[in-house]
Amino acid sequence: MLSRAQDFSRRLLAWYDRDRRDLPWRVPPGSLRAVFPDPYHVLVSEAMLQQTQVATVVPYFRRFLGAFPTIATLAQADEQDVLRLWQGLGYYSRARNLRAAAQTIVRDHGGEVPKSVEKLRTLRGVGAYTAGAVASIAFDCPAPIVDGNVARVLCRVDRIETEPKENRIQQLLWRRAKEILPGGRCGDFNSSMMELGAVVCTPRNPRCPMCPVNAHCEAFAAGVQDRIPLPRKAKVRPLLERDVFCVRSRGSSAYLWLIEQRAMTGRWAGMWQFITLPSNGQTPTAQVIARHLGTAVQAPRLIGTVQHGLTHRRYAFNVYLCVTRGRNTPEMPGPRKWVMRRQLSGYPLSRPQVKITELLDKYDADAGSETAPRRGPKR
Ligand code: SF4
Repeated sequence: MLSRAQDFSRRLLAWYDRDRRDLPWRVPPGSLRAVFPDPYHVLVSEAMLQQTQVATVVPYFRRFLGAFPTIATLAQADEQDVLRLWQGLGYYSRARNLRAAAQTIVRDHGGEVPKSVEKLRTLRGVGAYTAGAVASIAFDCPAPIVDGNVARVLCRVDRIETEPKENRIQQLLWRRAKEILPGGRCGDFNSSMMELGAVVCTPRNPRCPMCPVNAHCEAFAAGVQDRIPLPRKAKVRPLLERDVFCVRSRGSSAYLWLIEQRAMTGRWAGMWQFITLPSNGQTPTAQVIARHLGTAVQAPRLIGTVQHGLTHRRYAFNVYLCVTRGRNTPEMPGPRKWVMRRQLSGYPLSRPQVKITELLDKYDADAGSETAPRRGPKR
């Protein structure tokens, strides 16, 4: 007779074999059971999936693998190219860490993704979750995993009515995830738990009547699945204000824009931006900007404010168009460059900076190409 844990995994795996989504980092549905996905693909997908939904990740994953089809190509890649392909996914330290992990794999592991959780955890950016996911999915190691989806399923199945992020509950969930691992197909089992959380045991309105493990679910039995897990207390997110100076100068054949590279540490490290400074709450004057840039500009024009929210803070970027006096594109100290508008796509930009370029384009269109040089009459 099957134990409860065996019956749970049997039902879940049968559902996964039948209904799982076809995703580019998985082996196709219907593949032989002994076929495992490429460990490099699993590593890339797990890095991308942290804090990001599957539907968003799929096109990024395809583009990334198109540019860096192997660990060796990623290890040799220029960091700016890696960041550019990550542009829009956010949490850019994941991209830098992934490249650093690829370099370690090439240097210390003969180019092969390590199989054990312990060795995987020595790679930069690889924590308990990612190590367990790669070890189990790519190598079928009996490694448990707990991400947000798994935590929600476990909390409901066991009727845990406490905040799952609490340390004590996290430890409990990791223990439970280990206890319920089946004797084989650990990667498929972990994937099926995440899949269940993503498509059936969803945060709101879980679809319990069609759930393959509803016979094991204490929350469903008690009719309390909608209030588990306990919602997190909303945190107050501070608002940080920035002044962005989109400095434009007339080059010999096109307008040029001044951009600068951010510091190599901290948020959006190594990415590019228009000249951005903390706001002091006052409207900046041409003199203040000129002092900062070391070149004279006309009075700045506020063209809009771009809002951007992150998990722990919000930003308001006050965007000013600044035009230099005359054809003035002086050499700039530090990592600053004059570039044409169309060249901006060759630089990794954070999401708010992309929104700022969109704002500039809209302003340009509304103002009748004021931010682009006028073309001669059509022939
Ligand atoms: Fe989630 Fe409902 Fe299934 Fe329980 S029965 S695991 S609450 S979907």
